Amino acid sequence: MQSQLLHKLAQLSARYGADPLLTQGAGGNTSIKDSKALIIKASGKRLSQALNEDIFVEMDQQRLLSAIGRGEEIDFNANLKGPLRGSIETPLHAVIPQTVVVHLHSVRTLAHAIRVNARQALEERLAGLPWALVPYAKPGWPLTWELQKTLAQSPSVWVLQNHGLIVAADSCEGAEVLLDEVERRLERSPTNESSSPSSALQSWVASHPEYRLPRENHAHTLAFCGETLDRLVQGVLCPDQAVFLGREVEVVNDLAELPASPTAVATVVRQHGVLLKASASQGSDDLVTCLGLLASRVEPSDKFSYLSEPQIEELLDWDAEKHRQALDRTR
Ligand SMILES: [Zn+2]
Repeated sequence: MQSQLLHKLAQLSARYGADPLLTQGAGGNTSIKDSKALIIKASGKRLSQALNEDIFVEMDQQRLLSAIGRGEEIDFNANLKGPLRGSIETPLHAVIPQTVVVHLHSVRTLAHAIRVNARQALEERLAGLPWALVPYAKPGWPLTWELQKTLAQSPSVWVLQNHGLIVAADSCEGAEVLLDEVERRLERSPTNESSSPSSALQSWVASHPEYRLPRENHAHTLAFCGETLDRLVQGVLCPDQAVFLGREVEVVNDLAELPASPTAVATVVRQHGVLLKASASQGSDDLVTCLGLLASRVEPSDKFSYLSEPQIEELLDWDAEKHRQALDRTR
């Protein structure tokens, strides 16, 4: 495959990976393909590092396509020699016919894709674009089968319910133009962005070593968004939330209610800010940032859909995810 195309993909990946509105941590992935090879971001690698390290791995596109043709869920990493493994979403990229595929956990998209009436909201905003809505399915093969059902309509934009966005084109430039257009159409005017933790919370955490503040201030928006907080944390909104924050985000009404030892990875203290467990990984920081950015892009009348208990269970008890979390802890 042309090295020039791969370099363009790396440039695009680094740019999107550095934007918390488009991707969090090791989430999201990009690829290019020809009839023989699929070059995709490796599992656990960060798009933001695309220009600094080797984050891409070459997969056998012919083998993937013949497995997809047979409806068989193969181990697509089986023949790899080096240390890198293909992203969990490798078959999802393989099934899409376009050359360049960009999959992001876009906050602007999630603000609609977590809504009970996502289709109705998106129909207005994406009118005229070749787009499809893909019902929630576990990332990897189950999501691939769901997306495959939409291919008869020849889409180049997919909104994945409770998950994110895919755009595809035959060039990097084409994918960039499409992504810009979708993001522009899906943006809702953000309110209340980037709050700071209260000074009381800052002094409290200084004497409680089992907790720490998140690395980004966006997360604290959660503490200042009123009843939106209750609806956002009522359940798990997307797969990476389950993986990096667990089943529950704790909410307390005041500093005095904070337990000496954290009971959840993330705790929100209303009107003060957000705390993480001291041992929380970078992925947890990225996910509270995502929830904070989401908090300023949802509206009081929105009704959200949450992952069901079996859907959460299958994410937490999954070897591929355990591999990704282990890589995250080494940061
Ligand atoms: Zn994803």
